[in-house]
Amino acid sequence: MIATHRFGIDSLLAHAGTGQDPVYGSVTTPIYQTVTFQHRGDALGTYDYSRTRNPTRSALEEALTRLEGGAGARVFASGMAAITALFLLLHQGDHILLTDDLYGGTYRVLTDYLGHLGLDFDFVDTRDPQEVERHWRGTTRMLFVETPSNPVLRISDIRALAALAHRHDARLVVDNTFMTFYRQRPLELGADIVVYSATKYLAGHNDVLAGALVARGPEDAERLGEVANGTGGVLGPLDAYLTLRGLKTLGLRLTRQEENARRVARALADHPAVARVYYPELEPEANARHRRQAGGPGGMVSFVLRDPGRVAAVMDRLQLVLPAVSLGGTESLITHPYSETHRELPEPLRRRLGIVPGLLRLSAGVEDPDDLIWDLRQALA
Ligand SMILES: *Cc1c(COP(=O)(O)O)cnc(C)c1O
Repeated sequence: MIATHRFGIDSLLAHAGTGQDPVYGSVTTPIYQTVTFQHRGDALGTYDYSRTRNPTRSALEEALTRLEGGAGARVFASGMAAITALFLLLHQGDHILLTDDLYGGTYRVLTDYLGHLGLDFDFVDTRDPQEVERHWRGTTRMLFVETPSNPVLRISDIRALAALAHRHDARLVVDNTFMTFYRQRPLELGADIVVYSATKYLAGHNDVLAGALVARGPEDAERLGEVANGTGGVLGPLDAYLTLRGLKTLGLRLTRQEENARRVARALADHPAVARVYYPELEPEANARHRRQAGGPGGMVSFVLRDPGRVAAVMDRLQLVLPAVSLGGTESLITHPYSETHRELPEPLRRRLGIVPGLLRLSAGVEDPDDLIWDLRQALA
């Protein structure tokens, strides 16, 4: 009899993509850098054309399906390609409700492109399910949530929003880029589809753009495969390999990034030049909601300078933390959401969301925590 055992998530991560080479037994997943696959006679094999399926991409999709606990996953050339494919599940006239302080690119793909093709959408404060209910329409087919949100880390209740969406026969989609399945498991909390910018924590090294969609149900999984193949924004073999490689150390990186973020958040909260720090653990009410659905506070910290006029000087003086957009990689990065990631949002909306000129967003890397704190203190001095 063969012994059975459920492997833990760290074991699944370390072995992501192994056992994919039937010819030589290569431990890492080979990079199948090919467009097409030779077949015998007129019968196509498992693989025929790489837009439809490619073995390196399939290995990543299978790993993500298993890690997230879904029915199927599809990976794309970027998070935005994944989000665009997701919205193509809808039809003209369908309405989407979205978290109001969400990623700027998601806001833009709707306002600048898909809105013109007839998708309707509204942005709401998804922290309050009653507010979501008030904006619900007969045509609302999807609720799209980011929690923690970007950049001020507001927390929405995934279970409550899943119940609400399902009462109306609509899908709940969670952009889980900030937490990853290592810390937050939306499908188990009732979400239908999970979205990733795999560019961030999943790949984790600031060296590859990638996106992913993971579906809870087989029908959505199948449909996403058709959309991916039909529209073609799929991930290339080399980038799928790099994402698999990054994935192996996700648990190690995120644990360290979280510890660094926690230490930085505490140091900033005590600093006289800082008016406010946003970090789940520092806000009791939001943290209680977050703790009911997530296993840790994450590696992102936002903070507001007392003097917004010093933003550029502080960023210039940093010696270790790099001023750059993006997040989730091994190097700590700092951005100015007001002028960078969230500049597309109208001014009144930015103000209402707390995206003020003095706000800075830090993505903790895996450096020595004392060095990060030293660097921020000397730049703020
Ligand atoms: C970066 C990001 C995206 C977009 O992903 P790309 O890989 O840059 O296209 C979507 N959602 C969130 C929360 C992000 O941080």
